Amino acid sequence: MNHDQSHALFTRAQKLLPGGVNSPVRAFKSVGGEPFFVQRADGPYLYDVDGNRYIDYVGSWGPMIVGHNHPAVRQAVKHAINNGLSFGAPCEAEVVMAETLTRLIPSCQMVRMVNSGTEATLSAIRLARGATGRNRIVKFEGCYHGHGDSFLVKAGSGMLTLGVPTSPGVPAGLSELTLTLPYNDFEAATALFAEQGEHIAGLIIEPVVGNANCIPPRDGYLQHLRALCTQYGALLIFDEVMTGFRVALGGAQAHYGITPDLTTFGKIIGGGMPVGAYGGRADLMSQIAPAGPIYQAGTLSGNPVAMAAGLAMLDLVQEPGFHDRLSAASARLCAGLEAAAAEAGVPVTTTQVGGMFGLFFTDQKVDTYAQATACDITAFNTFFHAMLERGVFLAPSAYEAGFMSSAHDDSVIDATIDAAREAFKVVKG
Ligand code: PLP
Repeated sequence: MNHDQSHALFTRAQKLLPGGVNSPVRAFKSVGGEPFFVQRADGPYLYDVDGNRYIDYVGSWGPMIVGHNHPAVRQAVKHAINNGLSFGAPCEAEVVMAETLTRLIPSCQMVRMVNSGTEATLSAIRLARGATGRNRIVKFEGCYHGHGDSFLVKAGSGMLTLGVPTSPGVPAGLSELTLTLPYNDFEAATALFAEQGEHIAGLIIEPVVGNANCIPPRDGYLQHLRALCTQYGALLIFDEVMTGFRVALGGAQAHYGITPDLTTFGKIIGGGMPVGAYGGRADLMSQIAPAGPIYQAGTLSGNPVAMAAGLAMLDLVQEPGFHDRLSAASARLCAGLEAAAAEAGVPVTTTQVGGMFGLFFTDQKVDTYAQATACDITAFNTFFHAMLERGVFLAPSAYEAGFMSSAHDDSVIDATIDAAREAFKVVKG
């Protein structure tokens, strides 16, 4: 593959953008090499500026669940922009979006639109703190909730000790308020709540971890967390920025039958435009300004073009059988990848929930963060590049989930598996 144009653009970009990109993982730092620059995207494919085509399993990191450049979404955007790009005053699309989200996610009796997943999670923990009068929050190793200060924190030396920043610029005084638990560990959660329960405002979790590869919850784990939060008066916050409308129409909370107090959204609800939202119980959401005293605002929040794109995409995912088909496609891909790896003699296991999946270079079943990080990262990086050379774009990091779209039909998935058959041979060496 020729990458001359991408290389020239990356050279220019690196002079002016930190690392040459506007979001770190795009820079290929963990897999090595240079990113390609995209010219256009359509259906399951990305096309780069050198004319190369890739089957895309990144899907703009989740939003593109109906494939790229879907005509219905494009039409909705075109229609919306005829009326103007931003009003700074209420418009009907915001009401329709709120009606749609609260209908599809019954735990959300009210919602507030924002502009990114990061804004949604930051706002949700402010609400949790404001509503409970408590300061501490609990999160999980390997979960990502955006780049807010309170989330860029790891566990201190012991599980029950105060959190420490993972990025310069995060004040230690703030990070101390974030407690970090190992995901899927029942006893650790019980012990933390027994010691700190009455100081905990809220517990935030990716119900299916999609930011440490893809790790589903153990049976009963989310129920356990629900029970602990209820017992200690802490709010259970599901971060469904990734899982929302992807693992099931009603998100992970519908899939696993849990009712969180608050939920955060992003990605799919914007149809590819910059959008986030948070919602939950009416008694909590009505404490948000101007209905209540907890402040949160946004110049572009509820933007009419973004609402139009998101609503068009939410229409498409409500088509009967949409998620069954998406899940079957993901399962077909995972089975094909496992078979291809076995053929080549490379130990690989996969995970899958609805339209998200994980690929681990290990022969163990993976359901903890420690297991995910113990996998063979060198093998993944070799596989990533071997797939890219064969026209398949996986997330450029061993710690990201894969995303299926409804545009990935059987022939696209089979082409992916064919490429993988060769790529696993490269890994085997
Ligand atoms: N929460 C989860 C689970 C995410 O995966 C992400 C981003 O990938 C975020 C929050 C942050 O969203 P954004 O990148 O839109 O700020």
